[in-house]
Amino acid sequence: MRVTFVGVGEAFDEALANTSLFVEARGAGGRATVLLDCGFTAGAAFFACPAIDAREREAGPDAVWISHFHGDHFFGLPYLLARWHEAGRDRPLAVFGGPGAGDTVATVVDAAYPRLRAKLGFALDVREVAPGGAFDLAGLAGRAAATGHGVPCLALRLADGERALYYSGDGPPTPACRELAMGCDLIVQEAYGLAPGIPGHGSLEEALDLARLSGATALAVVHVRRELRRERGQDIRRLLAAAGHPSGLPEPGAVIAP
Ligand SMILES: [Zn+2]
Ligand SMILES: [Zn+2]
Repeated sequence: MRVTFVGVGEAFDEALANTSLFVEARGAGGRATVLLDCGFTAGAAFFACPAIDAREREAGPDAVWISHFHGDHFFGLPYLLARWHEAGRDRPLAVFGGPGAGDTVATVVDAAYPRLRAKLGFALDVREVAPGGAFDLAGLAGRAAATGHGVPCLALRLADGERALYYSGDGPPTPACRELAMGCDLIVQEAYGLAPGIPGHGSLEEALDLARLSGATALAVVHVRRELRRERGQDIRRLLAAAGHPSGLPEPGAVIAP
């Protein structure tokens, strides 16, 4: 499993693209690729990401995961669909999201480009998943749990035969998230602040706790509040390194292969 951090930013950071991860893994049907979240600024960041092969960017992933329906997590979808259409994609694209994903994805794509869905050269297959359920995601084993965000948000556990990844989307871990994260090799947790108690958001402290509890060998914190990352980035790196995660505050383009 190889995870590329296309973007690591929060919603409105002008310097860092919205948090978005490109996952390559060995699925039941061979190599599988999944893009986790694609906000306002993540579409362009994906196409500009030097850590992903240019042909791979043009072809696009097998599937897209949308953790929740906030613009910094899925408003990049019209951009990506249009680019992949222009590049001549013809294999279907699966888009996974929580309840209501079918209508919500159609609404945002139609608002951006009213005729795009009708003329896409590939099938857009939107699949709705519920918290607690297990599902197949491009040949990988997926499971989801609701986080403590302000709107319904699903944390994702994604496993191939060898490794498992936990990606929080937004929000602090709930008891169901902690259970979901158990045994994962890599934890990617939204950490808007340093300490717990930020309404709807996770923190560095909760990320470190989750990594410890799950037994993960690697932790990455993303979606850090922009002022905090600029002013306290070195402190955050020091705290992560002290806990055994020297690469725990990834820069755009960073790769972790758990
Ligand atoms: Zn967000
Ligand atoms: Zn959000």
